[in-house]
Amino acid sequence: MPAQLISGTALSQQIRAELSQRTAALTNLGVTPALAVILVGDDPASAVYVRNKVKACAEHGLRSVLEQYESNLSEDALLARIRSLNDDLSVHGILVQMPLPAHINPQRVIETIATAKDVDGYSVRSAGELLAGLPGFRPCTPYGCMKLIESTGVSLKGKHAVVIGRSNTVGKPMALLLLQANATVTVCHSATPDLGHFTRQADVVVAAVGRRNTLTREMVKPGAIVIDVGMNRDDHGKLCGDVAFDEVREVAGWITPVPGGVGPMTITMLLANTVESAERVAN
Ligand code: NAP
Repeated sequence: MPAQLISGTALSQQIRAELSQRTAALTNLGVTPALAVILVGDDPASAVYVRNKVKACAEHGLRSVLEQYESNLSEDALLARIRSLNDDLSVHGILVQMPLPAHINPQRVIETIATAKDVDGYSVRSAGELLAGLPGFRPCTPYGCMKLIESTGVSLKGKHAVVIGRSNTVGKPMALLLLQANATVTVCHSATPDLGHFTRQADVVVAAVGRRNTLTREMVKPGAIVIDVGMNRDDHGKLCGDVAFDEVREVAGWITPVPGGVGPMTITMLLANTVESAERVAN
């Protein structure tokens, strides 16, 4: 029997409907959740990402503050602007769209955002909170993957989860979130010999590599949950993930499609973190 599809589009809609209600309740209390989005330069892909985030805020009652700057903005000026947004009590989340122009140090920028407003969860302090199991903002993509896994109703307790990829924004936080949910976690990367040896043992596989057909049918345990984070293009220019979807769905128990899987969840979890930040202020 082919795998059940885990629709990130449907789950996103459900979570966003709940967020709209929470936002309305906050607004009634005089605290409208607000996200400041900073875009430096004219990278077309970044402009699209930023537009989608601003649009999503508007659709669910959040206020967004979009600040666009020329690519010659100095690092000092950007840091000063972030500090002023840190002090602005009407702003609950701050996001600086990456990549930044080469003369700006991205880590310095991220570390300047107040931890209480780091809704992307990329700062070293947010990463430390996740590592220590303290409350804090989780990076949106792995946070969304956890929601997709939860939506299957399968408990992660005692399951073997294999994460392919160890980036700071996806692979590593994903592994920590799975560990927190009591899975036994293996992290694979480009130096892992015989990837299939590990994935074949996995009850859950999260592929976050950026290379299509990384996970093929013979690498998957029958019935496994397969979460495909990858965003690649096939030979026809069509969006595809890291997983050979058509063949893996024949053996997996659950699988996320690309598009329509992890992608829609990322902005949704950004909204969730922003609403949560506003709730902390309101409470
Ligand atoms: P990244 O920083 O390039 O990390 C890729 C990881 O994959 C690295 O840890 C790398 O290992 C590992 N890797 C590369 N080749 C491998 C191989 N043959 N076998 C096993 N591991 C291998 O990428 P990322 O930012 O984590 O993103 C991963 C993918 O997810 C990309 O396609 C990206 O576009 C997509 N993505 C999607 C969303 C979304 O919202 N849908 C969000 C974020 C990212 P090393 O560490 O050894 O180099």
